[in-house]
Parts: sequence; C-alpha cells; structure tokens
Amino acid sequence: MLLGVPEGPPALSGVFVGLGANLGDREATLRSALHAIGQLPGTRVERVSPLYGSAPVDAGGPDYRNAVAELATTLTPQALLQALQIIEQSAGRERPYRNAPRTLDLDILWFGDQVIDTPELVVPHPRMMERAFVLRPLADLVPQRVDASALSKVADQSIEPLQGPGWVAGV
Ligand code: ATP
Ligand code: CA
Ligand code: CA
Repeated sequence: MLLGVPEGPPALSGVFVGLGANLGDREATLRSALHAIGQLPGTRVERVSPLYGSAPVDAGGPDYRNAVAELATTLTPQALLQALQIIEQSAGRERPYRNAPRTLDLDILWFGDQVIDTPELVVPHPRMMERAFVLRPLADLVPQRVDASALSKVADQSIEPLQGPGWVAGV
C-alpha cells in the first residue's frame, strides 16, 4: 500500500516518465528523483535516456535538464502519480503560475497502452507530441514508437544531448 492506495497486481512495463528541472542543481535533482522512483513499492527503473539540455518552451527562466525513464511497476497509474508528486514536493517544487520554472517536474507520458482521462491524470500525456524535450529522449529509448514526422514537427525547438545513457547509475 502506498498512501492507502492499493497497488495493482502484476508489474506492468512500458511505463514512461518524463523528468525536467530548471532550478537548483538540475542534474543532481534528476538523479535523486530516479533513485527515489526506483525505491517506490513494486517499481523498477528499467532504462534511462541520455540527459538533454533544452531551452524553456512558452516560458522564461534558465535552461532545462530533461530525460525520460522507462519503468516497470505494480502501482496503479493514480498511485504512481501521487508518488511522483511527493517526490516533486520533496525536491521543493512550487507552482506559482503555469509553466513556471521548477526544481522538478515528473510527468507520466505512457502507462503501457492505457488511456486515462480523469481530472487528475490524462495519459498519454496530452502535450507530449508538441515537445522536443519529451520526444528526443523517448526516441532514444523506443525509436520504433517515435516516428520521424513527429520529431520533425518539433525540430525548431532548441535541445541538445549533454550526456549518454550512463549519466545515472544504479537506479
Ligand atoms: P504540463 O502538464 O503541460 O507538462 P506541468 O507539468 O507544468 O504542465 P503541473 O503543474 O506539474 O503541470 O501539473 C498539473 C497537474 O497535471 C497535476 O496536478 C496532475 O494532476 C495533472 N496531470 C494530468 N495528467 C498528468 C500526467 N500524465 N502526468 C503528470 N501530471 C498530470
Ligand atoms: Ca510537465
Ligand atoms: Ca507535471
């Protein structure tokens, strides 16, 4: 049980989480978030993308550090969302206004092939296809699921790989 929310039965793989940070020690925050995710009940971090640097989209502030992680988890989507929000809080996340700079943002991109549309959780993430900082690291992990035309639509966004997949170890 996590926060009174029952865990779902067998571990589901193909759960993808997008990570972003543009305040504080961005890379260290992303590393600790990945370690925290790996310690959630019934949850394993299977793979982590390279680390990217990106300019903010529709917002000001410092550049972001971004990555995508693939998980396997027995948690329900709702329980995973709650857990990710607690990890964001412990990294000092504040939400003064939409798209504000942040110490840590953890978004559920895909949860297997589930389609969820509730007030708290929408999966697939509704804006992921508009974002190079999601699609580029996702394409590194699952190139067969991110086609060239999707990547070409975000080709004008400023983003660069900073470190290969070994940037976070032991998650
Ligand atoms: P965006 O959703 O455009 O990336 P954001 O990440 O800055 O913006 P937040 O303030 O972090 O937005 O989240 C607002 C709310 O979005 C959260 O409280 C959460 O309930 C909801 N939400 C809906 N779908 C998802 C999802 N797939 N992953 C994470 N949060 C989600
Ligand atoms: Ca987000
Ligand atoms: Ca978010």
